Amino acid sequence: MNEADGTNAIVIGAGIAGLIAARVLSDHVDRVTVLERDRLPDEAVPRRGVPQGRHGHLLLAAGRRLLDGWFPGLTGELAAAGAVPLHGADLVRHQGGGYRARPDLGFLAMSASRPLLEDTVRRCLLRQRRNVTVVDQTAVDGLVVATDRIAGTRVDGVEHRADLVVACTGRNTHFLDQLAELGFPAPEVAAVRVDAAYASQLVRRGPDDLDGALAVVVDDRAGGHRTGTMVPVEGDRWLITIGSRHGEVPPSDPTEFETFARELPSPTIADVLTKAEALSPVLTHRIATDQRRQVERLRRAPAGFLVLGDAICSLNPIHAQGMTSAALQALALDRALRRYGPTSPRLPGAFYRRAGRAVDVLWRTAVGADFADPRTTGRRPVGTGLVNRYRNLVSRACHTSPVVARQALLVQHLLARPVSLATPAMMLRVLLATRRRPGHPTSAGPVAGEHTLRRPARSRVDR
Ligand SMILES: Cc1cc2nc3c(=O)[nH]c(=O)nc-3n(C[C@H](O)[C@H](O)[C@H](O)COP(=O)(O)OP(=O)(O)OC[C@H]3O[C@@H](n4cnc5c(N)ncnc54)[C@H](O)[C@@H]3O)c2cc1C
Repeated sequence: MNEADGTNAIVIGAGIAGLIAARVLSDHVDRVTVLERDRLPDEAVPRRGVPQGRHGHLLLAAGRRLLDGWFPGLTGELAAAGAVPLHGADLVRHQGGGYRARPDLGFLAMSASRPLLEDTVRRCLLRQRRNVTVVDQTAVDGLVVATDRIAGTRVDGVEHRADLVVACTGRNTHFLDQLAELGFPAPEVAAVRVDAAYASQLVRRGPDDLDGALAVVVDDRAGGHRTGTMVPVEGDRWLITIGSRHGEVPPSDPTEFETFARELPSPTIADVLTKAEALSPVLTHRIATDQRRQVERLRRAPAGFLVLGDAICSLNPIHAQGMTSAALQALALDRALRRYGPTSPRLPGAFYRRAGRAVDVLWRTAVGADFADPRTTGRRPVGTGLVNRYRNLVSRACHTSPVVARQALLVQHLLARPVSLATPAMMLRVLLATRRRPGHPTSAGPVAGEHTLRRPARSRVDR
């Protein structure tokens, strides 16, 4: 590459983080090349480098909004490919011993398999950003080091020069280790042990399966054992994922999987499993820790190189925050690039500080919730015990108060800050709501009773 070609960036990894990073970079450099180790399939099917893609993946509303901004038309393309629009009221959630009220928040997200989401984002990226190229079957094995900066990547011994390299190679990225070997400090890694295990199966979706509702979460977070999710995906299928923690591994035998689902605190998911046609085997996945590389604390980082996505922060999937975390980090990258440009030695520090702030809220929420299970080990965020006691009250209040349930849903989708559930007015509502019996109607709107899954009337569209 010579000067006349302008500035260029290489993104390593074409997962969700890599694709979004490439989109952001395409506004700031002349050329972006994404290098991916896997062969990228022509169709939306799981691939080797993203094994978690076989499990339920919900993009939170905050992430969906960012992606819609970067990729105009994405929602329409997902819908055309069979993804299912989810509104607040479509979501049934059983938590803390009862069903939550189902306030309508309007449109939240498109429910699709992870391969379809990734495939559609990649197609939008390549069609809409002419300065981006994706090269598959290309494993990057090292970084090219100049005196005081990273100057490119190495593939099969061949150097590919770049002004900026962004590694989006997931949770087990090894590029930071390589920097450490070169004498740069390695970030400290914060890890909280959850020993989570997941099992998923695709089954045929019938229109009346949930009495009109479109997604279910059965969560025993306070007890800390199992969580089941059932989300609609393209091809009229349900993707059912059941997770458990601390060594209990969901079975991969279909009959035992159904029995396992039956032991959830609500029978909703097991009832569908019993009668639905199975469309896939039951597949499992394990994740040992919530993990965060504290890049924001690095005293020195070489110019020309960044990591982004799960490489920075990878959380227990039960919180469904990973892809939104990548989007928030990409937003941080955009802001840092606007300030310093792609070649500045100040870019890494500026990006890492912003990305660190973005993932901090996610980390505190997710890790804090994981500590509701007494078997979780690691460093607790300050105030976790108190916050979790209040969280339990909020869970109970959600059974009877649509206002509290609405705010909790906004917080879960990162559309409101967690402190919004702790204003004096909200705390009063929470306390009053916990005194009501589930199923008791309130003036604020419809309440789902213990066995009522019927969908409340739609209100407005939240766009
Ligand atoms: C069971 C499970 C369920 C989940 N559910 C949700 C959910 O509901 N919602 C949500 O938001 N998140 C969810 N997540 C988290 C989500 O999967 C991750 O946060 C997200 O995939 C991170 O994206 P990434 O691009 O950083 O990494 P990855 O998806 O891991 O992608 C890394 C990419 O880099 C490539 N690569 C690696 N090394 C190289 C190399 N040397 N050269 C070239 N390419 C390379 C890989 O092939 C891969 O394509 C879930 C995770 C799990 C495990």
